[in-house]
Amino acid sequence: MKSIGLLGATGSVGTQTLEVIRQHPDQFRLNAMAFGENIEIALPCIKEFQPKVVAVKDESTKDKLQHLVPPRTQLVTGMEGIVTAACDPDHDIVVNAVLGSIGLIPTVEAIKAGKDIALANKETLVTAGHLVMELVKKHNVNLIPVDSEHSAIFQSMNGESTKDIDRIILTASGGSFRDYSRNELAGVTVENALNHPNWSMGAKITVDSATMMNKGLEVIEAHWLFDMPYEKIDVVIHKESIVHSLVEYIDRSVIAELGHPDMKGPIQYALTYPHRLEHPEANRLNLWEVGTLNFLPVDYDRFYSLKLAFEAGQAGGSMPTVLNAANEVAVQHFLNGNLSFLGIEQVVSDILDKHDQVDRPDLDTVLAIDQETRRLTEDVLTHNG
Ligand code: NDP
Ligand code: MG
Repeated sequence: MKSIGLLGATGSVGTQTLEVIRQHPDQFRLNAMAFGENIEIALPCIKEFQPKVVAVKDESTKDKLQHLVPPRTQLVTGMEGIVTAACDPDHDIVVNAVLGSIGLIPTVEAIKAGKDIALANKETLVTAGHLVMELVKKHNVNLIPVDSEHSAIFQSMNGESTKDIDRIILTASGGSFRDYSRNELAGVTVENALNHPNWSMGAKITVDSATMMNKGLEVIEAHWLFDMPYEKIDVVIHKESIVHSLVEYIDRSVIAELGHPDMKGPIQYALTYPHRLEHPEANRLNLWEVGTLNFLPVDYDRFYSLKLAFEAGQAGGSMPTVLNAANEVAVQHFLNGNLSFLGIEQVVSDILDKHDQVDRPDLDTVLAIDQETRRLTEDVLTHNG
C-alpha cells in the first residue's frame, strides 16, 4: 500500500490522480491533499478519501470547509499549509500537480523530508532545476516525471546506461494552432486557444501548448531531469500524440514509448515505478487503426516561444526563472482577455531582454527574481494595456 500526498488535487492532473487512486484501493491511499479554492470539486473528494491533512489557499476557503470535513481531517492554509500537506510523515510520495512556480517550495521541503516526488508541476524544474536536482541527489529520493513526454523518456531509459544516450527527442502535438500562419495567429481568441486537439488539460498549459511555450518549458524540464545538454535535446512535431517521446542511443537505436494520449498512464507509472499495474480504462494501441503517424521539423520562427525557451535554458542562471514567471503572468492576461495571443511571446521576450542574469542563484534569489519578474510583467502589461 502506497500512501500519497497530492498537491493540486482539484486540477486536471489532480483529479486524474484521484481517479488512479480510486481504481486501485488496495494499492494506494490518499493521506494528504492541497488545492486552491475549488470547494465544489474538493469536498466530495475529502469525504470520499478522508485525508488526514487538507491544505487550502486561504482562511476564507478554510472557513467554508471547516464544518463540512470529516472530524479526523486537519485543515491548514497558505504556503505553510501546502508544505504541511507535502511533508506529512504518513506518506512516502508526493504528487505535485499544482500550477506554476508556487510548487517550488513544497517540492523542496518534501525532498528535504525524504519524500519521493511524482512531478507534474514542470514550472518547479524550470524555475530552479539546479537547486531541485541537487537536493534530490543529496537526500537520495526519486524524482519521477508525470509529464507524458518525460515519462516516455524515463521509461525508454529503463535499464540503460546514461553514457550511451546520444539524444532525446520530445514530441509536440503543435497545440491548437499547429497549422496556422503567423498572420492567422494574430486574430485568435481565448476560446480557440483552449480547444486542444489531443489533450484535455488545465487552461494555462493548454495556452502554453498553443504558443509551444509548453514544449520550451519541457525542454528545460528534460535538461534537468535527465542531465542532458541542450544540444542533445530535439523537438519534433507529431500531431497524433501517439509517440510520447524518444531516446536515441550512440548505436543509433531509438527507443520510444507509445500509447493513446491519456495522462492516467504516466500518473500511474510514477506511482508504481519501477513496477506496473493494470490500467483498467486504457485503450489498446492498435497501430493498424491509427494507420499513419506524421512527423515534421519545428519552424522556430513560427513557434517563437520555443526558441525563447531554448535560448533562456542555454543562457542558464536566472533566465529560465524569468522566462517562466513572465510567461505565467502573460498567459493569465491573455486568459483574462487583456493581451493578444502573440502579445504573450512579445512580453516574455521583452522581460527577458530587461533582465540582468544571475548565475547559480540560491533559493532566496530565485524566489526574489520570480516575484520581481511578476511585478515587472504586470507593470509592463498594465501600462501597455
Ligand atoms: P489546473 O489548472 O487544472 O490545476 C491546478 C491546481 O493547482 C488546482 O488544484 C488548483 O486549485 C491548484 N492551485 C493553484 N494555485 C494554488 C495555490 N495558490 N495554492 C494551492 N493550490 C493551488 O492545472 P493542470 O492540472 O493542468 O496542471 C498542473 C501542473 O501539471 C502544471 O504545472 C502543468 O504544466 C502540469 N501538467 C499538466 C498536464 C495536464 O494534462 N493537465 C500534463 C502535463 C503536465 P484550485 O483550482 O482549487 O484553486
Ligand atoms: Mg507534456
